[in-house]
Amino acid sequence: MYVDAGSSYLKLIKEVEASCKEANRAFDSVCVCAVSKTVGIDKVLEAYRAGALVFGENRPDALMEKHDQLPQATWHFIGNIQSRRIEDIVGRATLIHSVCAMRHVEKIDECAAALNIAQKVLVEVNVSGEETKSGISPREVLDFLHEAHAFSHVQICGFMTMAPQGDPAYAREVFEQLAYLKEFACSHADESVAKRITELSMGMSEDWHEALRAGATIIRVGRAIFSEEFSTNN
Ligand SMILES: *Cc1c(COP(=O)(O)O)cnc(C)c1O
Repeated sequence: MYVDAGSSYLKLIKEVEASCKEANRAFDSVCVCAVSKTVGIDKVLEAYRAGALVFGENRPDALMEKHDQLPQATWHFIGNIQSRRIEDIVGRATLIHSVCAMRHVEKIDECAAALNIAQKVLVEVNVSGEETKSGISPREVLDFLHEAHAFSHVQICGFMTMAPQGDPAYAREVFEQLAYLKEFACSHADESVAKRITELSMGMSEDWHEALRAGATIIRVGRAIFSEEFSTNN
């Protein structure tokens, strides 16, 4: 059965709205980043026509291509960062979710300075400590913020994490820990750093409900919008 990405998007938005109500949160306090990494521009356009404005890509080539095809949308980069591709990401991505090394910050700063912009980024944190996951460790966060503050063309807006899959209770714990880390960073970092830390990017198709309850300000949803199997099974 063919499912239009626009109708899947609208169904998701209704669910997000209901979850916000349940969690006593304003609907506009949550940004839905539609992760379009597995689909082409045709599907992106279906979602865009239904009202999706923010899309997430995890590869620089796809980001460049789709950004060119739909520059009026907002594009986020959510994938692993390779230093030599940073120049392709900076400026095209309104927000880079996955910064997890000071060399990324340095290179982003250099590219953003050349474009005369301040690049917004999130710091990816490996909350669960799984070896297969990228991200800095929670105890490195304050030092990282402090060091990154010297790079004036990089603006750290908050944190991102990936939860372990398949265990909603554990995922929720990870999300709550990231929310706690944000509070901790805001109360312990220099005021000029702390005042910009507002975003929590967490939650995907299977666990965004948990993330939203824990305080996510950005949820990154791919399959629930773009996969026909996901939408017919759920
Ligand atoms: C693919 C991806 C998502 C979306 O995952 P779904 O399960 O398809 O919703 C979110 N975040 C990152 C970093 C991803 O790579």
